[in-house]
Amino acid sequence: MSKKSATPAERIIMLKDGLAWHYSLPASVLNPIAKERARQNEKWGEQNHAAEIWLAILIEEMGEVSQALLHDKSGGHAAGTLRDELVQVAAVAIQWLECIDRNGGEK
Ligand SMILES: [Mg+2]
Repeated sequence: MSKKSATPAERIIMLKDGLAWHYSLPASVLNPIAKERARQNEKWGEQNHAAEIWLAILIEEMGEVSQALLHDKSGGHAAGTLRDELVQVAAVAIQWLECIDRNGGEK
């Protein structure tokens, strides 16, 4: 019996007592986030900030999510940008995690 090969987005997390959690994240979600991460690195280079700065950056991005929602309802230049803004939120959160890992888990 051949074992089904996992796509890069598929993961199996082994839990205690032999239980496994199998999940898959669609490429339609992951690819835009990876592309955004590459764009951020190209624009800003490696970023190493204190937690409060990362939080401020993340909240600024969340503010843009809120703006996109409001402009979708009431009109404005940010209408139609919700998905892109959510991708930026995810990319910033990933970048923050990368920073934590680079610095030995220090926050
Ligand atoms: Mg944004």
